[in-house]
Amino acid sequence: MKQFQFKKSLGQNFLNDKNVINKIVESADIDKRTLVIEIGPGGGAITELMVPKAGHALLYEADSRLESHLNELLKGNDNYDIIIGDFLKADLGGDLIKYSYDKLYVVANLPYYITTPIIMKFVEECILPEKMVIMVQKEVAYRLSASVGSRDYGSLTVFLNYYYDIKKLFDVSRNCFTPKPNVDSAIVEMKLKDNRLEVLDMDLFKRLVRDSFLYKRKTIRNNLKGYNLEVIGNILDKYGFNLSVRAENLELEIFVEMANELAKNR
Ligand code: SAM
Repeated sequence: MKQFQFKKSLGQNFLNDKNVINKIVESADIDKRTLVIEIGPGGGAITELMVPKAGHALLYEADSRLESHLNELLKGNDNYDIIIGDFLKADLGGDLIKYSYDKLYVVANLPYYITTPIIMKFVEECILPEKMVIMVQKEVAYRLSASVGSRDYGSLTVFLNYYYDIKKLFDVSRNCFTPKPNVDSAIVEMKLKDNRLEVLDMDLFKRLVRDSFLYKRKTIRNNLKGYNLEVIGNILDKYGFNLSVRAENLELEIFVEMANELAKNR
């Protein structure tokens, strides 16, 4: 990797810290029944340790210059496929259908410029890995794992917490990467919830959550002007709130109930 010209446009900050790499792979707890997806294997820092543990690994890498390097690094393993191209355009369902596996995991040091679209691709395509262990920008880690009432609690927190239990595992300093990025990072673990609440209309739920946080300082009454405020007010009342509450103070369950009641009263 010595002569490699890093592409900033692809978010290429490669991990160089053995301790962090080991911790990521250990946290993922992969076994031979696992199909693991890595988005952006890059120079293969994580990949090299992960592939021998997995049943199979699907490696999505945008930069074709890395393919031969990865094949060389993974020589001796026959349980992986490298898919060169933009992960956001990948036919994930079509790719996965070729394999049989018990568990689907995602382990990745994500390219930061598309962290949210990558996570949302899974959810929107209804491909829900049992576990994701991902490196994200520290601020994103706070947002994903935020508690209700905190500054970082937002629509992404609520929406992803519908599917996943999310916790920040550990921080990673910018010094652990080559080249060194301008931000610090953190490893986040997302575990698929066994029991998800019933949502009658997922599009409505998603829209409601997004609109509730449209202007963070505004109340539910102001952010949700286009909705049936009587229905929403009744649900809020049940939980001891009124329309003057801000979205950041509302638990996932309340959003689900508001969306379901709106769906029933259409
Ligand atoms: N996994 C390596 C590591 O930890 O050292 C590299 C991580 S680096 C932060 C992000 C990687 O994602 C780069 O290899 C980059 O080329 C790749 N990448 C960027 N955009 C991508 C996309 N749209 N689809 C697939 N891979 C992408």
